[in-house]
Amino acid sequence: MSFTKLKVGSTIGIIGGGQLGKMMAHSAQRMGFKVAVLDPDDTCPARFSAHHFIHAPYNDMEALIQLGGLSDAITYEFENISGDTLAALSEKFNVPQGFRTVVTLQNRLTEKNAIESSGAQVVPYMHVSNPDSLNRVVEHLGYPFILKTAFGGYDGKGQLVVNNAEQLTEAVDFIKSEVPCVAEQMIMLASEISITATAALDGSLVFFPVQENIHRHQILYKTTVTGTHQLQSSAIEEVKKIMKNIHFVGTFTVEFFIDQNNKLYVNEIAPRPHNSGHYSIEACDYSQFDTHILSVAGWTLPERITLHQPAVMYNLLGQDLEIMEDTFHEHPDWHVHVYGKEIRKNDRKMGHVTILNLFNDYETIYEERMR
Ligand code: ADP
Ligand code: MG
Repeated sequence: MSFTKLKVGSTIGIIGGGQLGKMMAHSAQRMGFKVAVLDPDDTCPARFSAHHFIHAPYNDMEALIQLGGLSDAITYEFENISGDTLAALSEKFNVPQGFRTVVTLQNRLTEKNAIESSGAQVVPYMHVSNPDSLNRVVEHLGYPFILKTAFGGYDGKGQLVVNNAEQLTEAVDFIKSEVPCVAEQMIMLASEISITATAALDGSLVFFPVQENIHRHQILYKTTVTGTHQLQSSAIEEVKKIMKNIHFVGTFTVEFFIDQNNKLYVNEIAPRPHNSGHYSIEACDYSQFDTHILSVAGWTLPERITLHQPAVMYNLLGQDLEIMEDTFHEHPDWHVHVYGKEIRKNDRKMGHVTILNLFNDYETIYEERMR
């Protein structure tokens, strides 16, 4: 469908009503758009930030057509929607991001192939189609390596670290239940960074500052943004290479590993706003959700993003919220976001906290509270 710039008062349809959908909705509504959300959970966070709510599975074509009927543009908060469904929607409705990029990136194998052929440095990897591939993996990648399911993994789910030959039986079981998968060399990490960017329909592009990320149990724990990361320009160069191969519209994030020799590897790409970009709501002049909405609305992107202050963001998982919630009232400097999920579970992302006045030691105070 041909694209026109959305007028104020138009409706943006969002597939997925989690925290990302909710924060997109907040940005959209501030700019005068209405929001329609589709989600299988009728208590999802975005439900109460939306003008219209459609209670249906993500791949329910009838419900998606209903969403399309309500919407002047459709976007999504997560990348695991079926490519065929998104392709069918793109024919009838305005889906500015299209469907091809999602299809490439939702499969770790095609994702890595695309990154590699762009000339960017990807983590050494191999395709694993059956347990017999393991010999080749050991030979080429050595121990330790990490098996990752090609489809649908997140927050470390669908992954197995294989440290030595004794763990090969476990690896065989994993492969039997998870094919297709990829095997990746385990990088001895010095640190992890990510860079969030937004691409407009006209090809213009804007970058957020480099985000330094600390994971615990493969889930993002903390993001620090100083605006002065020494690998900022190398990371941007890598993203630009990837962008020649993969067509982006909207906000996306590239995750990188940095090894002990300060070498940068691309880990993965999320074609949507990302957890490590949440600090931008308070710390930057545009949030990653603002620029996402600007781009799907066909509006012009800002020339640059300004970081007002260095920032730290901590995720609040179920168990963290339990510890922290009774102390929020004492800390006006903690910008508290609680997503409003009904069910609180260990390791489920329930909210996050962003802290800006780092010079006042608020970071230390927060971490001591968490202990
Ligand atoms: P997810 O889709 O769950 O985010 P990732 O591939 O980003 O999956 O893995 C989650 C985390 O696990 C990474 O951020 C990193 O901390 C660790 N990890 C994953 N792959 C590797 C690797 N090849 N070498 C070292 N650490 C890794
Ligand atoms: Mg990741």
